[in-house]
Amino acid sequence: MKNVVTLVSQEKCTLCKSTLEYRYLPMKEWKIEGSLCGKCYSKKIFEHYPGEHPRVNLDKTD
Ligand SMILES: [Zn+2]
Repeated sequence: MKNVVTLVSQEKCTLCKSTLEYRYLPMKEWKIEGSLCGKCYSKKIFEHYPGEHPRVNLDKTD
């Protein structure tokens, strides 16, 4: 009986070097090579796309 070992390349987050449970692919404009973990991905999302709240003027005081 053979022991079959599936070698899954243990990819690591390119930023924090932690093993990836889920791979997130960085956006092209982030200029990041490799994969990101969820934490770094959301961090980057936040860095590049900070919560832009469109100005909503409910009260028009013009
Ligand atoms: Zn990470």
